[in-house]
Amino acid sequence: MYHHVKKLMYSVRVDTPNVRFGNMLLEQFGGANGELAAAMQYTLQGWNCVDDIARRDLLLDIGTEELSHLEVVGALIRMHLKDLKTNREAAEADPLVTIAGGGGVALFDSMGNAWTANYLKVTGELDVDLRGNIAAEARAKIVYERLIDHTDDPGTIDTLQFLMTREITHMKAFSAALETLQKPPFSIGRLRPTPGIVDEYFNGSTGNGGEGDTDMHGPWQTSFGLHPVESELHGGPGLSVDDIDGTISGEERGKQDAGRPTLDAPEKSELVGAREANS
Ligand code: MN
Ligand code: MN
Repeated sequence: MYHHVKKLMYSVRVDTPNVRFGNMLLEQFGGANGELAAAMQYTLQGWNCVDDIARRDLLLDIGTEELSHLEVVGALIRMHLKDLKTNREAAEADPLVTIAGGGGVALFDSMGNAWTANYLKVTGELDVDLRGNIAAEARAKIVYERLIDHTDDPGTIDTLQFLMTREITHMKAFSAALETLQKPPFSIGRLRPTPGIVDEYFNGSTGNGGEGDTDMHGPWQTSFGLHPVESELHGGPGLSVDDIDGTISGEERGKQDAGRPTLDAPEKSELVGAREANS
């Protein structure tokens, strides 16, 4: 259950309100990498994660904190947008919020795009979702950093610094949760990739470009067993696509859900008991 406490997670202060900056801040309210998207992504992952009670708790801890971030960033935006209600010139910074929303915060990004569940990345595969969450935190961090770069208001910077910092905290927690699953880094799901072609780095962009770009070499061609392969169009052998026959001997297909490995999973009876004890 949810319970609201009438206290912001971080006290918000704005020294000089700026409606245009308030509009930019909407990116972190109703935007693709914003706090609502983070809160919903982790919370839904947590609700669906019944096989790993430990990481379920982590997802719900962080999902709930993101909702608190939404409240903080919402309070900050409202302070910046205050003038929209009464000042015609200020209203031009965000006509949608002014006219349709009466100057309050709304679930739109800075360009007026409506928030959508399509922003969420939820696969239901814990390690895959944790990787997605680490990337989501990195995106949120960089958005906060850019917002900080575009304001001189000391109170606003304090709040944004807090929110930006917490995203790195979450990156650390998600990274630890992924690492402690102890899955080999390229082992995703249950089916194995086809040997041979899995290690072929295809040199798909060749020649010299007008801006000085040319064929480059890097460890991405030779690490983790990779080796470079030239296209037939470039005098090479091309990818060994002829070697794919669609199945790998000994593998059972269509059984992704059967015998799915569970981690720290308590007995069903224990689960019910724990829930009752908490209610
Ligand atoms: Mn956040
Ligand atoms: Mn976060």
